[in-house]
Parts: sequence; structure tokens; C-alpha cells
Amino acid sequence: MSNKQLYCPKCSNLVVVNDYVILDILNTITHKKCYDLCFAIKDYGTFEELVSKYIFLDLNSI
Ligand SMILES: [Zn+2]
Repeated sequence: MSNKQLYCPKCSNLVVVNDYVILDILNTITHKKCYDLCFAIKDYGTFEELVSKYIFLDLNSI
């Protein structure tokens, strides 16, 4: 997963593997510190954890 790159839609900064992130119901990854729609959280953890947990987060296929 070393070649995956994802940018936070809120702050436009690169999300790195050990950033704490939110996965929302639209399968969008946002930094935990940037996220403000608390009701729409599907899961959370580090980016690395969520990528390994959810196969659909393979960014090469988006
Ligand atoms: Zn952010």
C-alpha cells in the first residue's frame, strides 16, 4: 500500500498511513481532526488500519 495517495477533502493535505481518519457513509476518508459531520461516521482509525480493513479503499481502482 506504499503507493497509495489520498488527500483530505477538508484541508487538502495528504493523508498518511498513521494519520487518524474518519470513514464516512459515503466511503470518504477525512482526517479525524477535520471531520465535522459526526452523524455520518462509518468507522475510524488510522488510515493504514482502514485500508487493510476495507478492500474497497484500494485507491488504484477509484
Ligand atoms: Zn484534513
